[in-house]
Amino acid sequence: MNDLLVMKFGGTSMGSAERIRSAAVLCEEAWRQRPLVVVVSAMAKVTDMLLEALRHAEGGDEAGLNRLLAELDAKHRQCSNELLEGEARDRTQRVLDGILEDFTRIARGVLMLGERPPRSVDEAVAAGERLSAALMAAYLESRGVDAFAVNGWDVIVTDAVFGNASPLMEQTREKANALLRPALEKRRLPVVTGFNGATLDGRPTTLGRGGSDFSASILAAVLDAAELWIWSDVDGIMSADPRLVPDAKVLEEITYREAAELAYNGAKVLHPRTLAPLMEKGIPVWSRNSFNPSFPGTRIVPETKDGPIGPRAVTSMLNVALVSVDPASAVLSGTRIMARSLEALAAANAEVLALTSSSYRQNFCFLIRQSELPAVIEKLEETFSLELAHGYLHPIDVDLDVGLIAIVGEGMRGHPGLAGRIFTAISREMVNIIAIAQGSSELTIAIVVRREGVEKAVRAVHSECALGR
Ligand code: ASP
Ligand code: MG
Repeated sequence: MNDLLVMKFGGTSMGSAERIRSAAVLCEEAWRQRPLVVVVSAMAKVTDMLLEALRHAEGGDEAGLNRLLAELDAKHRQCSNELLEGEARDRTQRVLDGILEDFTRIARGVLMLGERPPRSVDEAVAAGERLSAALMAAYLESRGVDAFAVNGWDVIVTDAVFGNASPLMEQTREKANALLRPALEKRRLPVVTGFNGATLDGRPTTLGRGGSDFSASILAAVLDAAELWIWSDVDGIMSADPRLVPDAKVLEEITYREAAELAYNGAKVLHPRTLAPLMEKGIPVWSRNSFNPSFPGTRIVPETKDGPIGPRAVTSMLNVALVSVDPASAVLSGTRIMARSLEALAAANAEVLALTSSSYRQNFCFLIRQSELPAVIEKLEETFSLELAHGYLHPIDVDLDVGLIAIVGEGMRGHPGLAGRIFTAISREMVNIIAIAQGSSELTIAIVVRREGVEKAVRAVHSECALGR
């Protein structure tokens, strides 16, 4: 079965009965031609609603919880009513009710405990994808496609990092093939829930927000798929965010490494971890628009046809924080401070977006997401409680008035004049550069600037590097 296609539909592509209908047409077309596995996100906003419901429960707000439960029920019921009729509709409604009952049971537990254990959260939020997969499978069936819903936790095996789990690929390969292969051989169409998996001993986990892309790439890798198509609501990966740069254009082709760098640096089209499982086998990925399916989209491949051609795209990120750790005395080993800081970041489960240091003062700073800041500060203060108390370290400094821009392209390697041109273009806009980081792969130049300068800097770089052309 070397023609296998995995297709993943994001939240907006599953966002209403009408959207599910269009997505199902795309599934059916592909399924008539080749073996297909479909992976779905929850309907748009549903994961946020589920998480909010659990927060209400934790805070003892039963009315708030009930309101959200009613909204979730109404949203999916309406969708099912619009998509299905008769017996199929009743049967599907019973499935939807069962899934919402599972969620409600956990939410009531959270309400009683006044606590939201991460592992219960993971089990609970999987409901979003279970609901959308049930709807999609039932609707496909009503169109005469032999589709069936599969829970991600029955095919994807992960570690036990609840909320941000990583796959165990060998175990996943076994489980996914055992369950999906026989069905594919019978020409059936599995509709798998994105986002969730389970530990080896069966405890439900999730792969992090936006993780359905990652689910799809994990499955594509372990099923040895020929291709992965990721359907979202934009035409592909662009040279810049079109809201900031009007002449940004869709890229025809881009390498795995470029796409991953863009995703890690704020481009929203792909979950950053999506590409890793595909690299070994070189499985190509298409980023496509389910609202504009005749457009080919962006092809993500190991090497592009035109080879490395300088910078390919620029991306930016707000809602970041620059955290500085600054020893007050040279008595402390800067390297040890750095090591312990990184330990603290790992314990906080935070991702370092950029890191720079100075060897003379032994101080260094790193950029993280603002959402991860509270956990990071807590862990840093815990780690350095003695040094801070005795003044060996200056108080940990946090600067929220910053943004990150990243210029990405394989062809930037060994291009001496380029960094200079980029910095000059940014300075011409009178935007002050606060920190610079370039990885040793020379694939990305990351620049931290004042927040108000981010848009200007993005536009300046886009035009200086002629990215729209
Ligand atoms: N539904 C999940 C989320 O909103 C996963 C996904 O959509 O990829 O984060
Ligand atoms: Mg997504």
